[in-house]
Amino acid sequence: MPIEHNYLRTRVRVANIVSNYELLRQNGGQVVAVVKADAYGHGLIATATALAAAGCESFAIGSAAEGAALRDAGCSAAIISLLGPVLPEDDELVIEKGLIPFIHDFEQLSRLAERCRAMGRTARVALKFDTGMARLGFTEAQAEKLAEVIGATPWLEVAMVSSHLATADDPAAFDFVAEQGARFARICQTLRRGGLTFRASLCNSAGILAHAGSIGFDARRAGIALYGVNPFAGSDHEGLGRGLLPAMETVTRLVSVHDLPRGASISYGRAFVAERDMRVAIVAAGYADAYSRGLSNQGFMCLAGRRVPILGRVCMQLTAVDVTGLADVRPGDVIHLLGGDGPGTVAPDDLASWWGTIAYEVFCLLGLNPREYV
Ligand SMILES: *Cc1c(COP(=O)(O)O)cnc(C)c1O
Repeated sequence: MPIEHNYLRTRVRVANIVSNYELLRQNGGQVVAVVKADAYGHGLIATATALAAAGCESFAIGSAAEGAALRDAGCSAAIISLLGPVLPEDDELVIEKGLIPFIHDFEQLSRLAERCRAMGRTARVALKFDTGMARLGFTEAQAEKLAEVIGATPWLEVAMVSSHLATADDPAAFDFVAEQGARFARICQTLRRGGLTFRASLCNSAGILAHAGSIGFDARRAGIALYGVNPFAGSDHEGLGRGLLPAMETVTRLVSVHDLPRGASISYGRAFVAERDMRVAIVAAGYADAYSRGLSNQGFMCLAGRRVPILGRVCMQLTAVDVTGLADVRPGDVIHLLGGDGPGTVAPDDLASWWGTIAYEVFCLLGLNPREYV
């Protein structure tokens, strides 16, 4: 929570995250709760604690340091580091805190094994394969050799073999999902023939909802759906994510309410000029609060259940909205940047589309503000 001393409050309903977890679990397999990036802005420790109480036995975080923070908070579950050890000091952290790091190449593997030998401790690892993201991972061609190397390394135990889907949320690209699934199945077969035993894991949220029947494998890594976003909203497959509940809303306060006469402009650059007499509210939120300047003249907020449009440029700590015709609007009133009641509620996908991004980024950024748990 690096943003302090502002009026924004990001409210998190942990019970909704737990409800989403229960829903995702109904698809079968082990659900690994992805709580990287401070649980997508929802708060690492609060989120993981609630999920652990609901029976979740496996968490995925980003860096080794993030995993260490979760372990130090008292989490005794399996903690998988999706970034894996990047720097040599991460190897030590992984071993000391008993994390399960993603390992994506031979160099990283031998460096960790060497560190284990030096410390006289074994480590469990998750082997990461590239089946179509071309980001990180061993290739299919390396699988046989990898099984041999692991077999000859006494300090490492393989807990998981995984890969990541590039297009699971795009119904127009399900062919590519099948291609990745087939490649991953061949890789797992090669590794098992080579003597390894492990949990296989391919699916992310969209994979769980749309593809668990065909390529569910043993463990599924749930991120965005855990936080209540339906990856298929607006598509023919929308029904797959029915029942998911958003868990984050962000509120702030009105600073001032005043008239804007016809012909007058508002905010920097005069990017909005009133075509009629208007009434405007000045809101205590801006790009310093991780409320994007890209929302200038684009976005909406929710005031007392109504959508109110942003007027002109979003400033560093202030933004103007149109409240013409709304009664009883006063300085100090609460306004929703995300969420809200009634027909004007701002859903994560709505805000993301005005913002020119995806709900993932909206959560990570608004989650930087002071949080409250409700
Ligand atoms: C972030 C992440 C996930 C979760 O993806 P969602 O689309 O949020 O479900 C799963 N696997 C890996 C490797 C990730 O980095």
